[in-house]
Amino acid sequence: MIRDQDTQRLLLDTVTRFVRERLIPAEEEVAETDRIPDAIVAEMREIGFFGLTVPEAYGGFGLTMEEEVELTFELTRASPAFRSIMGTNNGIGSQGIVIDGTPEQKDKWLPRLASGELIGSFALTEPGSGSDAASLTTTAKLDGDVYVVNGTKRYITNAPEAGLFTLMARTDPAQKGAAGVSAFIVEAGSPGITVGKPDRKMGQRGAHTADVIFENCRVPVGNLIGGREGQGFKTAMKVLDKGRLTIGAACVGAASRMLDDTLAYTLSRKQFGEPIANFQLIQAMLADSQAELYAARSMIVDAARRRDDGQDVSIHASCCKMFASEMCGRVADRCVQAHGGAGYISDYPIERFFRDVRLFRIYEGTTQIQQLIIGRALAKRGSAMTY
Ligand SMILES: Cc1cc2nc3c(=O)[nH]c(=O)nc-3n(C[C@H](O)[C@H](O)[C@H](O)COP(=O)(O)OP(=O)(O)OC[C@H]3O[C@@H](n4cnc5c(N)ncnc54)[C@H](O)[C@@H]3O)c2cc1C
Repeated sequence: MIRDQDTQRLLLDTVTRFVRERLIPAEEEVAETDRIPDAIVAEMREIGFFGLTVPEAYGGFGLTMEEEVELTFELTRASPAFRSIMGTNNGIGSQGIVIDGTPEQKDKWLPRLASGELIGSFALTEPGSGSDAASLTTTAKLDGDVYVVNGTKRYITNAPEAGLFTLMARTDPAQKGAAGVSAFIVEAGSPGITVGKPDRKMGQRGAHTADVIFENCRVPVGNLIGGREGQGFKTAMKVLDKGRLTIGAACVGAASRMLDDTLAYTLSRKQFGEPIANFQLIQAMLADSQAELYAARSMIVDAARRRDDGQDVSIHASCCKMFASEMCGRVADRCVQAHGGAGYISDYPIERFFRDVRLFRIYEGTTQIQQLIIGRALAKRGSAMTY
């Protein structure tokens, strides 16, 4: 749902200009230094990028899902690292509180997440628990008016920058699965938390992940999200349903950038006396990419509208995440191919994007996990979704 076309147009124009004038020109520096310049982060804060999805009552823009995906299509035409630094505040790092937090928790934390004063991170994955997230072993044991947390979280986006973690931990060790898991808000500076060295990654330089180790970390009872034990896994899944639509939108943005760059290259590169864009085999790659890009964009807008409408979109979100991330991988591969040797050389953005977008098929639920979610739901229904 777009609440006000004029305001949305204004916001989209601001993002488009910011991407063109500030982000794309800084991409190489970010890739070389593995750091987003402070000035750019400050501008992002000023424009309000950290609070796009936080409700207006807490200082954010309170974007609807449709407004958010439209904005993400534009924003993610620049390197994914730029989305990553503000992405957790708009997604997995804030939505646990937005969706299931108590009024006190919202009052206390959301304004600081919306302003970007705090960076929020989402700590679910562990060394022994990735796709099988419900098997997590980090424990939170009640001791008077605090929970004592012990365990290690792995690959946590923005952990080195984080001021606040949404942490999933087991409060009931007798319950081995999802039912024993609770979600907490944990301040990064709390005693007993160590953030590991940033991981060395295949791509997305400028976006950082690290281990987060909890050793007898004492978390106030008031930081249990929603004030109820045993709800944490459900909270995490609600957060991820929304996140999967945003990741899908990021895949559309990245794919449209790669296709644009490739069009420019194939129109200027000549072989056999003419631009290679004139060759039908190159056009086939461009056409397949365009058609798939359009399909991904359309399904994401549809799912976003349904979510705004109050429908349960968990299957739609998995379809979107799976299709859009796989589409993005195929587009990246074709675009490298259409660049020929240049596609393998780091002077061209496509080489970097090829590595950057590989992540989309892995995090927030791999393609195989999306297949399982969709497949199981279909088997349960016994019929195709008729929309
Ligand atoms: C850069 C990066 C950022 C990340 N950010 C975060 C973050 O902010 N917060 C967070 O909590 N996590 C984060 N993650 C973790 C990410 O969500 C997990 O890596 C992902 O869910 C996969 O888990 P895994 O790595 O343990 O792989 P595994 O679960 O070990 O999977 C390995 C392979 O087995 C397949 N597989 C697993 N189970 C099945 C099955 N039942 N059937 C078929 N195939 C199966 C998978 O699809 C995959 O191909 C991040 C990861 C990366 C790399």
